Formats: sequence, C-alpha cells, structure tokens
Amino acid sequence: MTDTAATKRPDVSAAGYSLQPPSKDQMSSLTAGLDPEEIRVLLHHGTERPFCGTLLDNKKAGTYVCRLCGLPLFSSQHKFESGSGWPSFFQPFDNDHVTNLRDSSHGMVRIENRCARCDGHLGHVFPDGPPPTGARYCLNSASMEFVDAGTPLPDRLDRGDPTGH
Ligand SMILES: [Zn+2]
Repeated sequence: MTDTAATKRPDVSAAGYSLQPPSKDQMSSLTAGLDPEEIRVLLHHGTERPFCGTLLDNKKAGTYVCRLCGLPLFSSQHKFESGSGWPSFFQPFDNDHVTNLRDSSHGMVRIENRCARCDGHLGHVFPDGPPPTGARYCLNSASMEFVDAGTPLPDRLDRGDPTGH
C-alpha cells in the first residue's frame, strides 16, 4: 500500500468542491466521451509527447479543469513557461484537488499527480519550479480542459458545485 497511499482527503475541498469519487455509472459515461489519446493518458498513465499538447501555449485567463470529471485543477494565474514542452504550473487550484503519489516506474522515482476526485492521471510534480512554491507541476494537455475566465465551470457530476470562482 505504501506506493499508493494518498494523503487523506476531505469530502469537500477548501475551495468548496465535492471530492466524492464518481460512481461506476458516472465513470463509464465520462470515459465514453474521451478520445484514444485522452484514454491513454488519463486512464493508463501515459505521457503525451512534449510540445504537442494543445494547452502548452495557452496564455488566456481561466481555469484548467479535469478532462474527465470537471474538477478545477489549475488556474492560469499559476501557469508559467518551464521550457519542458508540457503545460506547467507552480501550484494547484486547490491543494485538495490534486493528489501526489510516489511513482517508481521507468527506473526513476517521481511524484505522480492525479485528480483527487476521479483518480485520472494528470502528470508529475518536480521540486525545481519558480517561487513562491518551488514546485513545477508538469501536466498533460490531454488530462485537462480549459475554461475561459467568466465562463461557468462544468459540473459534470451534477453536484451543484460552485462555479465561476
Ligand atoms: Zn477528475
């Protein structure tokens, strides 16, 4: 269990979103909407090729939500140009929304990030980011969907989650 023991998470995040995992039925309808690349990345822990993701050069103001369940994961305010070829952020939208798991695949030890609600694979976090956190969340575009500032966030699980902030 040591490799997968996530930090204990609350039922509702600090930002006020429900972190109850989707039911089996909800998961199958959510995954039915994914394309093969999204399935490979989100469900099979794949990594998209660098400099290919659709969100890498996105500089618009808004929120990056989970491609699968719609939970807000990252904000444009915390995005920075890391030069890595993947969209990078120095902190999550809410620390409760992104889980950190030890990943010892590919002969290295890294910290994997997953969506705290649906467990979809997002990317990895590295300790070489900019101030103030020093963290570099290195994400797959395929794991996220961008929502412009001012547009209500999707509530895919129909839980009446707060929107617009
Ligand atoms: Zn999710």
